[in-house]
Amino acid sequence: MAGRIRLYLGDLTEQAVDAIVNAANASLLGGGGVDGAIHRRGGPAILEACQQIRRTHWPEGLPTGEAVITTAGQLAARFVIHTVGPIYREHGGQEAQLLANCYRNALHLANQHALTSLAFPAISTGVYGYPANEAAEVVSRTLQESLLRDTSMTEVRLVFFAQQQLDTFLRHQKFTGQK
Ligand code: ADP
Repeated sequence: MAGRIRLYLGDLTEQAVDAIVNAANASLLGGGGVDGAIHRRGGPAILEACQQIRRTHWPEGLPTGEAVITTAGQLAARFVIHTVGPIYREHGGQEAQLLANCYRNALHLANQHALTSLAFPAISTGVYGYPANEAAEVVSRTLQESLLRDTSMTEVRLVFFAQQQLDTFLRHQKFTGQK
């Protein structure tokens, strides 16, 4: 993977990459956590774009694991990719698959838009209750597999809000070989 995956400690909303990924909820109309921070700092253009997507593509809301792309408004990034993580223990054992889908579908959408740098938060590990150690295994395996095929993606940042979350990721990640 030659250094394409980088771990960061900090605020996702400040990342100057092609797109930051939002841990949204199905409504796409904003929420708490990282979602709230993105809408607060990015301004109303993001919400307007999300409302448009609800009207045109997903009137019932965005299904878990799917991803859509909008402007990033006033943020340093160019776009926001919104994906809905699984709520832990509410998907009958499909949680890991759904979490992997979030990362895969965000990368796929970025690829379709010719984006080459992305920053992810630790999707589902906040209010949605996904244990950070289990998420680390799923995320590292998924990214490794996806980036082997997706050679146009030059940088994927994993942005952690607290040192402890980053440490947990490092302890439990399953990257093999060169990262
Ligand atoms: P979810 O509902 O998917 O669990 P949350 O927003 O509650 O989403 O939390 C996801 C992760 O994002 C948590 O680990 C939380 O600590 C982290 N987080 C919250 N705000 C930020 C931010 N501004 N930058 C980076 N990470 C953040």
